[in-house]
Amino acid sequence: MPMISKILIANRGEIALRVLRACKELGIASVAVHSTADADAMHVRLADESVCIGPPPSRESYLNIHQIVAACEITGADAVHPGYGFLSENAKFADILEAHGITFIGPTADHIRIMGDKITAKTTAQQLGIPVVPGSDGEVKTEADALRTAKEIGYPVLIKATAGGGGRGMKVARTEADVLEAWSTARTEAAAAFGNESVYMEKYLGKPRHIEIQVFGDGEGNAVHLGERDCSLQRRHQKVWEEANSPALNVEQRMKIGQICADAMRKLKYRGAGTIEFLYENGEFYFIEMNTRLQVEHPVTEAITGIDLVHEQIRVASGGGLSVTQEDVHFHGHAIECRINAEDARTFVPSPGTITHFHAPGGLGVRIDSGAYQGYRIPPYYDSLIGKLIVHGRTRVECMMRLRRALDEFVVDGIKTTLPLFQDLVSNQDIANGDYDIHWLEDYLAKGSA
Ligand code: ADP
Repeated sequence: MPMISKILIANRGEIALRVLRACKELGIASVAVHSTADADAMHVRLADESVCIGPPPSRESYLNIHQIVAACEITGADAVHPGYGFLSENAKFADILEAHGITFIGPTADHIRIMGDKITAKTTAQQLGIPVVPGSDGEVKTEADALRTAKEIGYPVLIKATAGGGGRGMKVARTEADVLEAWSTARTEAAAAFGNESVYMEKYLGKPRHIEIQVFGDGEGNAVHLGERDCSLQRRHQKVWEEANSPALNVEQRMKIGQICADAMRKLKYRGAGTIEFLYENGEFYFIEMNTRLQVEHPVTEAITGIDLVHEQIRVASGGGLSVTQEDVHFHGHAIECRINAEDARTFVPSPGTITHFHAPGGLGVRIDSGAYQGYRIPPYYDSLIGKLIVHGRTRVECMMRLRRALDEFVVDGIKTTLPLFQDLVSNQDIANGDYDIHWLEDYLAKGSA
């Protein structure tokens, strides 16, 4: 069993801090890495050791595999936690670490590869018994192929880049003319953005919810599911507000789809944390992708299950197996996460700069995951997430009451944030009713600025 004694955290911001907290609790030494722009970051201050790995651009620092491996060797770190984003779903990185005898806290490089290619992921999901969106049988290679497939699955259709991610590389087509246009522009754009022109086609679902299942495997054929998260409130395919449980599911539906996912992970012998993402419409689940890492929104699952997902990741990576069986997993109450971005709440234009005043809310059921503090200067080079507010209550109503109060207490001065957006959402009747789909937020924002 490869015991882990020192973890290098190959990330920054709130998630680096999140992982660091787990290391401290487990008595494992921690190494922070940082670019020159992040020398003052909280994760660097709190880690046992830190190593500067390059200049501000991610390509030269947080994505620089060579520098990160060198940092492991200098500090004697025997494991790497990749967080989310950056190198977390980079199979080559997992391979290189393994070749250096360093434990990658995540799944096998093979599983990262399978799920990183959307067509292979979908075929694999289908073979594992997971329901998928009706669509093309693999890549759509020619115009004739595109037209034939669209006719078979029925309009409207969605053309998606095989190598796509982050909500980019998707086009809706409602007519034959649309299909021809979307197919060729999607290929050109995919080639430019992802270095891979391959596209595939899916039925475009009109009013689905985004519901994802958290899974965990030990790599030996044991796996559990930790319920779902509803991430339907999105802007430009980016999640803004996530909650568990989903207001749309009952216990039977939750356990049924959860079982399907856990069974699939047993068959795959999946190791570590994973998220199986679905669109959900008219009582049916349709697989869209699997993320082979920890998600931004993992705290809502932690809130309702009481399970620390990072502890669990480290435990599994050390060969210690899962700490729970499915029977041990219980769901308590309701949790909501708001992603606080350094952005204008109306225009979503990034607002880097210095935080002149910072006061985080507290009290029962309130959790803040953030690397921000008074005097912190947000660098302009990275994503604009500055923190997450996670609120837990016994019921959804109690959770919403607590969220409203916590938002009122939260003060971030000196920069613009998306806090005002959440103040609007928490008082909205549709949100109170849990009555929203993946288009709701965009429609709401369009009305607001009209
Ligand atoms: P990415 O890897 O870029 O996040 P996904 O496949 O997960 O791509 O899709 C991102 C978002 O795009 C989904 O959350 C949903 O809002 C929308 N989407 C994806 N597939 C479909 C579909 N077949 N019909 C309607 N919307 C879709």
